[in-house]
Amino acid sequence: MSARLILLGPPGAGKGTQAVRIAEKLNIPAISTGDIFRANVAERTELGQTAQRYMDAGEYVPDEVTNAMVADRISWEDAANGFLLDGYPRTAPQVEELDKMLTNAGKSLDLVIELTADTEEVVQRLLGRAQEQGRADDTESVIRRRLEVYEDQTQPLVDIYTDRGLLIKVDGLGEIEEVTTRLLAALDEKLGK
Ligand code: AMP
Repeated sequence: MSARLILLGPPGAGKGTQAVRIAEKLNIPAISTGDIFRANVAERTELGQTAQRYMDAGEYVPDEVTNAMVADRISWEDAANGFLLDGYPRTAPQVEELDKMLTNAGKSLDLVIELTADTEEVVQRLLGRAQEQGRADDTESVIRRRLEVYEDQTQPLVDIYTDRGLLIKVDGLGEIEEVTTRLLAALDEKLGK
């Protein structure tokens, strides 16, 4: 069975970790725009150079750049039967663009999962991660900016997908395993998988 899913949620809610676990269970690729950008930064591609200055400041990479990258990635063979998008769409124009990509391919979204988390909790998590991984965008001021940008630009997507009847909320607090169990139970209930 195929599934086209979006995982929404603030930075630090644990989307990346959970996306990989859920996608593996469903046998679909987890597509993380943040990971693709970071890989391009590491490889010093042109895309990476464009993306890096936005990422380092906690800002979003421009929609045209991000949309083109996702259009390419979801056209790969491994995504033919579905995918779990982690960190995309993040703006209203990205929502529209994804709609077009899917419509053109004769496909549609199955479900949008909002992984919820308390702001102070995610700041603490991100600061902890900064110490472990040394990500350039994990300093406290950049973290606060990322959360602000999320509130402004991405939080409105919750309403968009709620209006379409596609959104469910899952509590992102707790142990990794516990949250995965919650997510899988929610998917099972909604999609029978
Ligand atoms: P993430 O790992 O998902 O938190 O993404 C890290 C950074 O990559 C973000 O702070 C943005 O600068 C950039 N990024 C990732 N996904 C998107 C997106 N859908 N739109 C714009 N920028 C993005």
